[in-house]
Amino acid sequence: MSEFDAIVVGAGPAGASAAIRLASSKKNVLLVEKSDPPGSKNVSGGVLWGNGLSAIIPDWEKTAPIERFVDTKSVAFLTQDSKIAIDFSSKKLEQKKTGYTVLRTKFDQWLAKKAKEAGAMVINGVTVEKLHMEGGRATGVEQEGDVITADTVILCEGANPRVAIASGIHDRLSDHDVAIGVKEVISLPESTINERFNLKSGAGFACEYVLGYLKNGTEAGGFLYTNKDSISVGIVVNMAHLRENGETHSYDLIQEFLDHPYIAPLIAGGKMQEYSAHLVQEGGIRSMPKVFGNGYMIAGDSAGFSFSNGLVLQGMNYAIDSGVVAADAFIKAQEKGDYSEKSLSVYQDMLDSSYLMRDMKTFRGIEEVTWSPFVHKQVPAMLESLMMSLFMEEGKPKKHITSNLMDAMSKNGMLRTSSLLETYRMIRRM
Ligand SMILES: Cc1cc2nc3c(=O)[nH]c(=O)nc-3n(C[C@H](O)[C@H](O)[C@H](O)COP(=O)(O)OP(=O)(O)OC[C@H]3O[C@@H](n4cnc5c(N)ncnc54)[C@H](O)[C@@H]3O)c2cc1C
Repeated sequence: MSEFDAIVVGAGPAGASAAIRLASSKKNVLLVEKSDPPGSKNVSGGVLWGNGLSAIIPDWEKTAPIERFVDTKSVAFLTQDSKIAIDFSSKKLEQKKTGYTVLRTKFDQWLAKKAKEAGAMVINGVTVEKLHMEGGRATGVEQEGDVITADTVILCEGANPRVAIASGIHDRLSDHDVAIGVKEVISLPESTINERFNLKSGAGFACEYVLGYLKNGTEAGGFLYTNKDSISVGIVVNMAHLRENGETHSYDLIQEFLDHPYIAPLIAGGKMQEYSAHLVQEGGIRSMPKVFGNGYMIAGDSAGFSFSNGLVLQGMNYAIDSGVVAADAFIKAQEKGDYSEKSLSVYQDMLDSSYLMRDMKTFRGIEEVTWSPFVHKQVPAMLESLMMSLFMEEGKPKKHITSNLMDAMSKNGMLRTSSLLETYRMIRRM
């Protein structure tokens, strides 16, 4: 007889959500988290697209430590001298709030507390080493020779799935499939943030940047999100690209971003209160492991549920929803008293019919778009040329917009067949 119905490893959004669902359904669940308190080492940009939370905490917007709701969403291309942005503000975003900025140190603690309140046993400061296997089936978890048993283990250990790798159920990560995110939280008075970003109290700004100006040709994305009285700002760079580049360090990249003439004034006078770095899963469906087996399931980043198409970076929402789906799959398996691979394959079936796997399929190969010289070099340079020709008045005859566009594309080598093909592929993948 097992000590627990289920053990959940990792109290990030995936694990805490799985534990809440299981405990709310009167299951005997243990949530094990290596950091103390939960969330103290977790990193997100972070905009939470939190629809899925209402499935486990119906009034979550009232009690969750939310910083601001996003009512202005931007995407911007930066060159050395320019910023070309699409800025979207809408009353509709204000009425139908879906994106909220959060700080993970506060958010993850709150979510873990909800798991405890629902009845889960939560242990902090314990690092699980591997699954405990008996007769080819996971029957619990191990740490320094100690074993805790359960009918099923749900692994939610995040982007660096060491337990799954050590247990032989996940391949080692390839550089191509992960990026490194480096982030600073910079404190500023609430009134200064409202003024600088033209925000009403409670409303927030979120922007993703293509950094087309970095030294050594480095391809990186940037992000800047407003919290109540701080700003989360950082960069994301693909690991393979960073390693190939050889000479560039992630801490130099974030500094180059913070020093940009259109970023520096936004954070001027602020005090850095947090500096962190974390892996980001980017391999998408191609790098997903088998997410179920005899006595175990894998959810959240550990299962590869995360993606960026350059417009948004998503992962917390997928983590929450896949955690809940894994919990529901366990409940179904328990009804049959069968925790075999065949029985737990219901998890994959449920994922397949959810938006999670559909998103993964829709955006298959998106990393080829987000990490291409075309997006990081040619597009920003072309947009800058186009804007200059449209907005510079030099007392010379003007051209039609299409001629300006053709000139800008030609100047940046975008009329070559290869570039046209790349544009077509990019649009199809996005
Ligand atoms: C720089 C950056 C910016 C991002 N921006 C956004 C954003 O704006 N919006 C968004 O939705 N997503 C964003 N993401 C992605 C998002 O952070 C992840 O998708 C999400 O955190 C995944 O949740 P998770 O629960 O699967 O894993 P995690 O949040 O990583 O949680 C895993 C937990 O497991 C614990 N753990 C790990 N190993 C063990 C072990 N052996 N034993 C016990 N505990 C263990 C960890 O301490 C951690 O608490 C960003 C990520 C980064 C790095």
